[in-house]
Amino acid sequence: MNARLPTPPAAVDWEAVRAELAGLHVITASSQRKQLSKDFYWYSPILTAQLSQCVADLVVKVSTEDDVRQAAAVAARWKLPITVRAGGTGNYGQCVPLEGGIVLDVTQMCRVLDLSEGRIRVEAGARMHDIDLTARETGQALRMWPSTWHVASIGGFIAGGFGGIGSFRHGILRDPGNLLRARVMTVEREPRVIELVGDEIQQVHHAYGTNGVILDVEVALSPAVEWVHCTVLFPTYRGALDFGIAAQDPALDIFLLSTVESRFSPFYTSMRDRFPADRHAVFTMVSPASMAEFRALAAAHGGTLSVAGTEAELLAEGLPPAYECAFNHTTLQALKADRGWTYLQVAYAQPFDPAVVERHLALFGDDVLQHQDFARAHGECGTFGILLVRWKGEDHQEAVMREIESQGGCKIFNPHVVTIEDGGMKTIDAQQIEFKKRSDPMGLMNPGKTLGWQPHMAQDR
Ligand SMILES: Cc1cc2nc3c(=O)[nH]c(=O)nc-3n(C[C@H](O)[C@H](O)[C@H](O)COP(=O)(O)OP(=O)(O)OC[C@H]3O[C@@H](n4cnc5c(N)ncnc54)[C@H](O)[C@@H]3O)c2cc1C
Repeated sequence: MNARLPTPPAAVDWEAVRAELAGLHVITASSQRKQLSKDFYWYSPILTAQLSQCVADLVVKVSTEDDVRQAAAVAARWKLPITVRAGGTGNYGQCVPLEGGIVLDVTQMCRVLDLSEGRIRVEAGARMHDIDLTARETGQALRMWPSTWHVASIGGFIAGGFGGIGSFRHGILRDPGNLLRARVMTVEREPRVIELVGDEIQQVHHAYGTNGVILDVEVALSPAVEWVHCTVLFPTYRGALDFGIAAQDPALDIFLLSTVESRFSPFYTSMRDRFPADRHAVFTMVSPASMAEFRALAAAHGGTLSVAGTEAELLAEGLPPAYECAFNHTTLQALKADRGWTYLQVAYAQPFDPAVVERHLALFGDDVLQHQDFARAHGECGTFGILLVRWKGEDHQEAVMREIESQGGCKIFNPHVVTIEDGGMKTIDAQQIEFKKRSDPMGLMNPGKTLGWQPHMAQDR
């Protein structure tokens, strides 16, 4: 307790609140509160303008379930907004406290609770890379993770993410068998723990922490594979996309498959001549058992393998792992070099027609750079784009989105909005709102992030 508290909302006696949080690690210093009220929303100039002034009144760092219970009860007694934060790597201001109040930092809740064949149970704040390292001691591995896995937590992935590296092989988080069990703490005067099993976890998945604090989760593991990180180069982007489609052959065991056009090359400086400016790249992680077939397929499509090695081998050569060249790391690589870019997320109609991307290449010129990730969802192959868009103001960004949605069955997942529904989901998830009535009856959790919650739903308990 080292700094003066911010000016409190009229009805809140912050000294009394702090007294009730006694025994917990409470952060009041303005610089730390600011830092712990941000995520990667800065990818979006629109969100940057909207969110940069949003700051928690207090940050509470919790280490145990009892800490969460105490903080949740205090939030309920004082009717304070409470926003869970873990790695803070979400892109849409997901853990930004729009109305101030308490930010509940769960990063110290990171213990492994149980590990057996095919499953691992961990506290929600555990970082995914750490979980994977533990699983690998038993010859197993996480089924999927975001490229931010060195920092991102499993709870944040479930509450804020959708899938990622590994989704080409195992589907998305929502798919059956990936999420096995979760325990969730309610926010009310006497917080309770609710256990969710199997499909019940959908109630808190991608709910942005609006309906309960996830305490611990059990997720499925698969036998570990020492993936070969490959880069395959093509003279045309169409060639890269056609190879991406051909590599969906189920006979090939592939963990990651992404295409990135040549204009990203200057941003991938550590790739050096392995991704030259006149070639388009396919970044993949391939099972050693599939490498012979993979090489043959690449050659048949006119591709040249410029990188093939384990992650350790690539790092030893100063090359990035394939997963740091794909998904939203593409945007990060570009923004590191030039902050004049922003991005868009697109889901393409299936079966994927590369002509749609060729049309966008011709139409948008140097304003939009192409990159596609292939993944399985609900048992089907899907194609998703994270496109780099030159920032020319909100109207231009809107015009690009409208144009993309106007043809070819493309669906935009707008990354410039803060609500679950305006972003990817499009509709209110009634089961998540029903669960919120049980888990957050006063509507205190991460307010402003779901359009489905209406003030009249709040109950004082
Ligand atoms: C470069 C880059 C690449 C990315 N790639 C991917 C990707 O491939 N796939 C993907 O899905 N995402 C991706 N993301 C988004 C993000 O990194 C992941 O979703 C990540 O798993 C979020 O975890 P976190 O711990 O950082 O969560 P945070 O950002 O801290 O939180 C995310 C949301 O979850 C809530 N939350 C966190 N912990 C809990 C909890 N214990 N209980 C309840 N609610 C909680 C927060 O309130 C917030 O709404 C990427 C982001 C970046 C910047």
